[in-house]
Amino acid sequence: MKTAIYTSDAFLSHDTGANHPECSSRIEMLNHLFEEEFQNIPIKSPYDATEEDISLAHPVDHIYNLMDRLPDTGYAGADEAGECILSPGSWKAITKSVGAGLTALQDINDGEITRAFCASRPPGHHAESTKPMGFCFFNNAFITARAAQERFNLNKVAIVDFDVHHGNGTDALTRNHNEKHPDKPIFYASTHQYPLWPMSGLPEDNTDHVINVGLPEGTNGPELIKVYEDKIFPALNAYKPDLLILSSGFDAHKDDPLAGLNLENHDFAALTAALVGIANKHAKGRIISLLEGGYNLEALKSSVRAHLNAFV
Ligand SMILES: [Zn+2]
Repeated sequence: MKTAIYTSDAFLSHDTGANHPECSSRIEMLNHLFEEEFQNIPIKSPYDATEEDISLAHPVDHIYNLMDRLPDTGYAGADEAGECILSPGSWKAITKSVGAGLTALQDINDGEITRAFCASRPPGHHAESTKPMGFCFFNNAFITARAAQERFNLNKVAIVDFDVHHGNGTDALTRNHNEKHPDKPIFYASTHQYPLWPMSGLPEDNTDHVINVGLPEGTNGPELIKVYEDKIFPALNAYKPDLLILSSGFDAHKDDPLAGLNLENHDFAALTAALVGIANKHAKGRIISLLEGGYNLEALKSSVRAHLNAFV
């Protein structure tokens, strides 16, 4: 399977200020990894997503409101909690972060690649239709899913989110889409620590196409994989996706500072290998993996190494 990595120096210029966990060092760390160990995988540059692209998930006036908040110097907040920080270089990073998934999608459609890993930031899975949240501005995964349906006739798109936090934004956007378009539902599955911010993603709200599983603090890799085998893979196999999009957060790692699950590098490899198996079975191998969380730099590097080794 042909794989490419999508990344850009623009991701380094989204400055979130001192001591912010979602910082440019995350991408610098991954750039070292790619340089040292993955020279066999081509690195491609994403295009800048347009307003038309972003409006697949977000109203145009919301896009312009966010653009208006961009500071000429220093920092500005985009959310009430003060976690979504904008700096002068942020817009370029935000539009390229959305563009990474879309460029990968275009390249898959053109037959250039089958699988993509997008080393992009800011992440996207907490971003709701009109609400930036949890370091996320626009919902990269959902926009890519909608573009696959609208532009490339890949109607059955499954988003699997293994970030330690619930992807409240993707969940809400998917439910809303599925209500409006019952003929082409998007599939969303999330495993996340619960209770933990954002305190959503309860299994009692599950539908055929939106499956949330909350995991207690301390859950380890084999326990997490069992949840996938029992609850998520059967639903995914029944859905038979044309394309698999991964919201790849690596903050379920045991060394991550923001949460309390106990995954190790080889657990990310095992989960990735199982997801690759499902993509090979139903989706002609097509996977777009989008970076979400992962805030211990060494753990992020070693988890992405494991993820990519299972990927190619
Ligand atoms: Zn997270």
